[in-house]
Amino acid sequence: MTLEGVARSARAHRLDVFGALHPGPEDHAPAGTGTLVLLGPHEPGFWAHVTAEPEFHDGAPDPVDRWSGRVIGALALALGAESLFPFGGPPYHPFIRWALGSGQCWQSPVSLLVHDRAGLMVSYRGALAFKERFDLPSPAPNPCNTCVDRPCLSACPVGALGTEGYDLDVCHAFLDTADGSDCLSNGCAVRRACPVSQAYGRLPTQSAHHMKAFHP
Ligand code: SF4
Ligand code: SF4
Repeated sequence: MTLEGVARSARAHRLDVFGALHPGPEDHAPAGTGTLVLLGPHEPGFWAHVTAEPEFHDGAPDPVDRWSGRVIGALALALGAESLFPFGGPPYHPFIRWALGSGQCWQSPVSLLVHDRAGLMVSYRGALAFKERFDLPSPAPNPCNTCVDRPCLSACPVGALGTEGYDLDVCHAFLDTADGSDCLSNGCAVRRACPVSQAYGRLPTQSAHHMKAFHP
């Protein structure tokens, strides 16, 4: 198995490899893990694919997480890996730590994670833990290092998300106002302002789904 082989299998389900690492003891991966492969939505097309799946039509809650569990669980079985998830638990897995060690993700100036392809729209649907130690590519360049204007720093209309971190109370209060409808319908303006996010192809309807979970 190679990283490209994992990516090919994942893309059949509109998932993609979002980074990989050889975990050390401090990463708290399952014992004996040689390579951890992180998976995220492969765009464009992820939302159209996942919303046509059975989990979106059975009326039960958390369709995206249940779909991820089913599909990534089956991928793990097929590829001889162990599936791990950033939701549910215990056990609770340190996905943020893994992301920051994956060579494709960094801490942005607004404290959120920023990914080399998904920008501030990054999300992880799960991970695969392999016993084998795959060859890994060199780390990608951090997009923030060449982002001159840094629009993420000034995009929030109420300053809830910036260099000082995330003021959830201010954000939720704004979302309760009429002016908050743009964030609720299209996603957080800070995440959308990032040029890497804009090139990623995530649909506003997907962002609206997550915003509804964040601010019911
Ligand atoms: S807008 Fe620029 S500085 Fe901000 S997260 Fe995106 S790439 Fe980084
Ligand atoms: S959702 Fe809207 S109000 Fe909340 S942090 Fe993002 S831009 Fe600011």
